[in-house]
Amino acid sequence: MESVKRKRRKAAVNQSDCVACGCCVKVCPMSAIRVVRGVAAQVNEDKCVGCGKCARECPASVIEIREVEA
Ligand code: SF4
Ligand code: SF4
Repeated sequence: MESVKRKRRKAAVNQSDCVACGCCVKVCPMSAIRVVRGVAAQVNEDKCVGCGKCARECPASVIEIREVEA
């Protein structure tokens, strides 16, 4: 039987293009994203549920929802 790898959706920030506006932080229902040292947003993958709210709000479009191995 073929093994089925479980996938989970997680947000990923392109930090070099993040403008640190904090919009993603305000909309995240899981408090899974924060702006680190006022420079760029960072996702806590343990908390992120991949809902995509942050990606929709980001004015710089630097958040991508990716499928990762569970
Ligand atoms: S995808 Fe959802 S849970 Fe994950 S960081 Fe963005 S808003 Fe938060
Ligand atoms: S909304 Fe986008 S640009 Fe603003 S802090 Fe979050 S990732 Fe960076």
